[in-house]
Amino acid sequence: MTTTTINITGYFEGGCCGHCGRELRYCVQTDAGTFGAACFSKTITKPRTYRGKSYRLSTDAVISLAKTARRDMARYPEQFTFEAA
Ligand SMILES: [Zn+2]
Repeated sequence: MTTTTINITGYFEGGCCGHCGRELRYCVQTDAGTFGAACFSKTITKPRTYRGKSYRLSTDAVISLAKTARRDMARYPEQFTFEAA
């Protein structure tokens, strides 16, 4: 079985969500398209698991992560990788 992953690659302001088409102030750029933080965390990715518990990142956390993607991608690639829902 293969797992499809989505990687956050960057952040920019002003655009449309590739999932719901909503106009966005904060855009999360991924290798699967541009999404709003809420759609990214709640709809297009699976929750992460930590010590057996699953959790989803808050929209603020997704945005902060997107903002650091370009800088930290090389050092912490696993932070930016999510399982596609
Ligand atoms: Zn959306």
